[in-house]
Amino acid sequence: MRAAVFYGAGQKLVIEEVPTPVPTDGELLIKIAACGVCHTDLHYIDHGVPTFKKPPLILGHEASGIVAEIGEGVKGWEIGDRVLIPAVISCGNCEFCLSERENICANQIMFGNNVNGAYAEYVAAPAKDLIHLPDRLDLKKSSIIADAVSTPYHAVKNRGQVKSGDKVVVIGCGGVGINVVQIAAALGASVYAVDLSDSKLELAKSLGAYKTVNPLEDVEYVRNLKKETGGGFEIAFEAIGNPKTISDGYSLINRGGRLVVIGYTAEEMTFSPARLMYYELEMIGSLGCRPADYLPLIEMIERGKIKLEPLITGEYPLDKINDALDELRNGKALRSIIVP
Ligand SMILES: [Zn+2]
Ligand SMILES: [Zn+2]
Repeated sequence: MRAAVFYGAGQKLVIEEVPTPVPTDGELLIKIAACGVCHTDLHYIDHGVPTFKKPPLILGHEASGIVAEIGEGVKGWEIGDRVLIPAVISCGNCEFCLSERENICANQIMFGNNVNGAYAEYVAAPAKDLIHLPDRLDLKKSSIIADAVSTPYHAVKNRGQVKSGDKVVVIGCGGVGINVVQIAAALGASVYAVDLSDSKLELAKSLGAYKTVNPLEDVEYVRNLKKETGGGFEIAFEAIGNPKTISDGYSLINRGGRLVVIGYTAEEMTFSPARLMYYELEMIGSLGCRPADYLPLIEMIERGKIKLEPLITGEYPLDKINDALDELRNGKALRSIIVP
């Protein structure tokens, strides 16, 4: 089969012929319909974040497809079934898996990181972790549910615990942040969207943001938003991964408020523990999504409460994957999908 192979930081992905995986016991072979291009890939390619499996490695962790082959002992799946492949598979046995926190499984395996991913024609994956996709959903566009939509869903629903009527601020409206906006809005929150790009803010508005803020036009936006909201927000989400914007999110929450960090940064930062203690603030992280979240999430998409179409700004064949990564680098693309 053909695949886009990562050989190391600072190098373009190489399209080449590699052996097609063979499904072992309990696995399905999936013919990939599409795979979303994620910032995480740029962390490996541009920023030197090491992958768990040493290169050469096939990247790609946000995929949908069709069952092409069924391994020994698999029940409940047929050839041709439509399938969503979660970005991460969990062990099912550790203390975190056993307490329904599979997203922080101590032995988790991520596609395109621990094992070969879906910038390829085929992927083999354990059947127990795969999700049936309803016929009503577009197979290719649904690929981005596996990370760009499911990660925000967990952040908003389980970590942020957003409820109807909450005032929420989302800093960063890229592929992940934009879905924090639309999911929090769908749950009835008043969402303030913050981004440096006016086009991303326009999209945020069309997906339910109550108000949009561009810090380039309002450099004092933290102070101004606190004033406008009478002290700040119940919940802030940081979806960039930058100490400055994490700090802004922390400043933007009101007494008793909660900051949820979804963006990744390896940098250190400082914050005021006095504020944390005195105002009973919460500062928490959010990683991926639990298997139990996929069903209610897919239902929201089926009912049109969460939209996929406006999120996908480009579709590229496997040969053009480096162009898709360039688009993401220069901030033009929101979410591109690769169709191998
Ligand atoms: Zn991702
Ligand atoms: Zn586990």
